[in-house]
Amino acid sequence: MPESRKDTSCDLFVIGAGSGGVRASRVAASLGAKVFVAEDLYLGGTCVNVGCVPKKLYVYGSEFGKAFQDAAGFGWRVTDATFDWPTLRDNKSREISRLNSIYERLLDGSGATVIDGRARVVGPHTVDVDGVEYQAERILLATGSWPTKPAFSGSELAITSNEIFDLETFPTRLLVIGGGYIATEFAGIFNGLGSQVTQLYRGELFMRGFDGDVRRFAAQEIQKTGVDLRFNLNVASLQRVSDGIEATLTDGTVLTADTVLCATGRHPNIDGLGLESTQVALNAQGYVRVNRDFQTDEPSIFALGDMTGGPQLTPVAITQAMVFAHTQFGNESRVMDYDVIPTAVFCQPNIGTVGLTEEAAAEQGLSISVFRSEFRPMKHTLSGRDERTLMKLIVDTASDRVIGLHMVGPDAGEICQGMAVAMKAGATKAHFDSTIGIHPTAAEEFVTMRTPDA
Ligand code: NDP
Repeated sequence: MPESRKDTSCDLFVIGAGSGGVRASRVAASLGAKVFVAEDLYLGGTCVNVGCVPKKLYVYGSEFGKAFQDAAGFGWRVTDATFDWPTLRDNKSREISRLNSIYERLLDGSGATVIDGRARVVGPHTVDVDGVEYQAERILLATGSWPTKPAFSGSELAITSNEIFDLETFPTRLLVIGGGYIATEFAGIFNGLGSQVTQLYRGELFMRGFDGDVRRFAAQEIQKTGVDLRFNLNVASLQRVSDGIEATLTDGTVLTADTVLCATGRHPNIDGLGLESTQVALNAQGYVRVNRDFQTDEPSIFALGDMTGGPQLTPVAITQAMVFAHTQFGNESRVMDYDVIPTAVFCQPNIGTVGLTEEAAAEQGLSISVFRSEFRPMKHTLSGRDERTLMKLIVDTASDRVIGLHMVGPDAGEICQGMAVAMKAGATKAHFDSTIGIHPTAAEEFVTMRTPDA
């Protein structure tokens, strides 16, 4: 922490050392700004500590059970494979600690000063951290988002994604509430690790916002893996009973679980941030309102990442941070490009998606051709597993551009990243058709679909 009074003023004071805050701090400092960054929880934020990174490690861990079963058709005999939760959990924690240190070194190396404490804005240019006031020409809010728990009787018995990574005891029976990214990913993880998983979604069909075919197909494939995925159902109340937590569902049925995970969305992490001492305003959805340059209604205060709404994705926050830093401190005028943002859900099998859904294209009144392919992955001809893959292209008939690309299947996240480059470059269906496939892969299907839906 700065020692003397004059060390408490800076060009940029960043609140929150998550994906967006760290990148903004490092880039601004490398461009010559004097930067302070305050964090009271963990360096790297949600993504590194209780999000993307540990989640992906757990996804890897959860895929082994299936691989052991599939190995039999290839001649392997794997007997007595057992899973030990503390080993996975503690190895994960060691890796996260290593990443925390790397983040610290990166910040130090960039010249930014890390302040360990909870920061509160007390004026347009003033931030308080544990009783010390700092003056900043600009303040950047990058405090991310926090899990939202619905209000129902006994909701305090449910945990969120903040707690699930470090459970003391492995949940033999897991109840998951929600039908979005986090719910669906954790249902897959714990199902793969051996829990008996029930996932409840309040609406007709989960993964709202994804392509309709993807939602239906993913539901069917996930149900095949053993997740008890139920729609039009929610939790009415929870109560502790002798052998776990008893959930009364909205249809009156009762089920008992060891752990109940609420994965019902995230809200901006602004409690106690002191925004009332400024002109910073929220938008209709409750997120911090910013303009194209991430400037709030208080001209000296900026905000980016999850707390501003939009796609709550690490690479989006990082890109916003680069745009912000270069625009404010690099004498450049950069603008964030939100067009064609690829995304993946690491459920099992994966969902990968780039561009428009068929429904969104129709809503925009576009004339489209739809190409669809559904097949059994080659690997499962010998493994005997009854898993299928879906691939779908949406082509704008006027321009021949591929405007939507969707996949449910192994490695969909990896495959869609490459496809996103082509789509960003404006690839047409003719470009896809003239691209030579890599044989035998699943991805080659994207360049061999010739017949549109009638
Ligand atoms: P999502 O918005 O993806 O999903 C929230 C789910 O909870 C929806 O199914 C929603 O239903 C449901 N829900 C909301 N309120 C209630 C309620 N009161 N009772 C029952 N169900 C409710 O949020 P997540 O929490 O899963 O994730 C937050 C964000 O984090 C994601 O949107 C994504 O941007 C990001 N993320 C990205 C990942 C990745 O890139 N792989 C992984 C994890 C998170 P409804 O659809 O009806 O509103």
